[in-house]
Amino acid sequence: MKTIIEPFRIKSVEPIYFNTKEERQIILEKAFFNLFHIDAKDVLIDLLTDSGTSAMSSNQWAGIMQGDESYAGSPSFFRFEKTVQEITGMPLVIPTHQGRAAEKILFSILGGKGKYFVSNTLFDTTRANIEFTGAQGIDLLCAEGKLPTVPAPFKGNMDTEAFKKFIAEKGASNIPLCIITVTNNSGGGQPVSMQNIKTVSALCKENNIPLFIDACRFAENCWFIKQREKGYAGKTVKEIAHELFSYADGCTMSAKKDAFANIGGFLAMQDEALALQCRNLLIITEGFTTYGGLAGRDLEAIAIGLQEVLDENYLQYRIKSIEYLTKKLIDAGVPVMQPAGGHAVYLDAKEMLPHIPSEQYPAQSLAGALYVEGGIRSVEIGSLMFGKYNQNKNLIPAQMELVRLAIPRRVYTQSHIDYVAEVIIEVYKNRKQLKGLQIIEEAPVLRHFTAKLKPIG
Ligand SMILES: *Cc1c(COP(=O)(O)O)cnc(C)c1O
Repeated sequence: MKTIIEPFRIKSVEPIYFNTKEERQIILEKAFFNLFHIDAKDVLIDLLTDSGTSAMSSNQWAGIMQGDESYAGSPSFFRFEKTVQEITGMPLVIPTHQGRAAEKILFSILGGKGKYFVSNTLFDTTRANIEFTGAQGIDLLCAEGKLPTVPAPFKGNMDTEAFKKFIAEKGASNIPLCIITVTNNSGGGQPVSMQNIKTVSALCKENNIPLFIDACRFAENCWFIKQREKGYAGKTVKEIAHELFSYADGCTMSAKKDAFANIGGFLAMQDEALALQCRNLLIITEGFTTYGGLAGRDLEAIAIGLQEVLDENYLQYRIKSIEYLTKKLIDAGVPVMQPAGGHAVYLDAKEMLPHIPSEQYPAQSLAGALYVEGGIRSVEIGSLMFGKYNQNKNLIPAQMELVRLAIPRRVYTQSHIDYVAEVIIEVYKNRKQLKGLQIIEEAPVLRHFTAKLKPIG
């Protein structure tokens, strides 16, 4: 087997500005140990997110020039709509300015006090939009999904037995929607199997609960199905995607992920009555139904990106490059989530820093150390992001303490990734010197974006 090369050439480049370790130490202190407060120009390799950070293709840039900016009935909208319909099989397509806008609209309509939204794992904006309506978000992830270092092929699967029990306990009428996130972003970018989606779909149908797919990384998920699930090796990713969406009643999507766009999202669904309600809300909050908070040129970029992501040479390169970094880290003894996910590498800070308890945010401390050592920006996915307080104001920690290194699509080369591995391994060698953190200021929701912290001791 020869090296799997980047399936593109570079036509336009952006400089990286170098700074020193000493400078970065000061920058981190000034940012109150929260990497969201650091200026992007002070970052060497930005792995904060794979959202909106993709490199667009020359075709997408050409599409941008062809964008039609008519307020109503733009041909760019119809190209976008047709592409989404073709991939998802869903007739009703509603553009939004990003994924959370689609969520906001959907949950404003379906949410409310006393209701439960059940999922494999809800992404943070999804959960926040559910809870904002007074409803509760329930994660029912399979057991193997909760064990970061134990490999399994489909660790994003929903626990279907737990779902059955939950329905029996709370009553199907109190569950307006089930949401399956593919791949499971907050649970390590791990895929969901077609079998699991089928089983969940059947359970939903029996109980009259609609099923939506959080489809941000549908193509990456379908590539994993092709590789790992019996019966799919001979199918195209497009065929697999079609089958996956056929089990659902609708989907939400952030086009900033698998659609390679810098902004955008959509809702797609089967149900006319729900779509009508969504469109009415869309007009108040986003814009008219044929642009929904986006420029015509964005709709073009998304339509083209959605087709490009189904290219299997791209998907092979994409998934292999995440595996490549994961393997380098495993070989050096660094505890990482296994197997590699679709869009990111997750370091297991609980395992790596046993001397820092969850109350002192070990994954946030690790993310800070990676920045100082090598100018790498990552994100904590642990108790800072998902921790809650009990009545005595004590922290209820998250299930896992992870640092996510999300790899932007088509942006970094293999030597960038080699450098990232070197930096992580260096920090791993010096891990005993890392200190815990305490919060000095925080917001009531999505606190990880703005929290200010300081080191303990
Ligand atoms: C990014 C993301 C969202 C939200 O999309 P935005 O475009 O950032 O608003 C929702 N769900 C998942 C799984 C995501 O990764």
